[in-house]
Amino acid sequence: MSHVFINGQWYRPEEAVISVFDRGFLFADGVYEVVPFYAGHALLFNDHLDRLDRSLGEVGISNPYPRDQWLSICQTLAESLTDANAVVYIQVTRGAEFPRQHLPSTEIEPTVMATASHWAPPTATSEPVRVELMEDIRWLRCDIKSVSLLGNIMLKREADKLGAFEPILHRAGRITEGASCNYFIVKNNVLYTPPADQLILAGITRDWILTLAEEAAIEVQEDAFSIQELMDADECFLSSSTREIQPVGFIGDQPINNGKTGPITQQLAELFRSNRPHVTHQIVKEHR
Ligand code: PLP
Repeated sequence: MSHVFINGQWYRPEEAVISVFDRGFLFADGVYEVVPFYAGHALLFNDHLDRLDRSLGEVGISNPYPRDQWLSICQTLAESLTDANAVVYIQVTRGAEFPRQHLPSTEIEPTVMATASHWAPPTATSEPVRVELMEDIRWLRCDIKSVSLLGNIMLKREADKLGAFEPILHRAGRITEGASCNYFIVKNNVLYTPPADQLILAGITRDWILTLAEEAAIEVQEDAFSIQELMDADECFLSSSTREIQPVGFIGDQPINNGKTGPITQQLAELFRSNRPHVTHQIVKEHR
């Protein structure tokens, strides 16, 4: 059983508590990261920690720990699980103070929480799933990995009610991302994914897929695409740290590649799995 790290102390899960005055609880005033560990090795650790730094910087919370301390906390958590296949969750909120007030005081100290849960890394490409097209109702700073995920959760529940694996979101007809993933399409052997602007979270998996595609001489375009272009795609897949590359076979009732995994999707999923062992925390964005 994994322990829970809170502000420098370790707790058993049933003992782990945070103040009701924590701004994470009251205002969702905080950010998070999810780092996958494969047999004790973090995939793209520095990229995840760079993104944590960026999210903290954007919301004006200072990072309380140096990188080597984060690595040691995350490794301890991963190794507390039997096979050290772990999804490590890190959350940093602005901290706790009383009375509740929108504007935080300048002396407030961040609250750090980290924990790990067991995870079975994919060993083969998953069967294609069905996703459901929905309007993106979230805020306009989706580039920040904020714990404020109410919009994402509402959309995920809606998709689930329709029996879909994930929503695929659009703003005014342009595809953005999912509730917890990025999307890619393939058309005429070109790989398209929406640009990493403020409307999407720049997925660490997304970034690595783009690197793998470039290395495999697949043409890549980080360009917005429309609902029509999505529907006309030759292939579609989604990506995230825990799902890696997940083929998409249906958008609502519309089949993509006859509901089958496309060849470029399959090639990238295999490249992802075969390159995983080489991209542990020692490697810092050397690819792109
Ligand atoms: N977009 C959103 C909204 C997410 O929540 C996530 C992951 O949780 C992603 C994209 C994929 O990001 P990553 O590849 O870093 O896991």
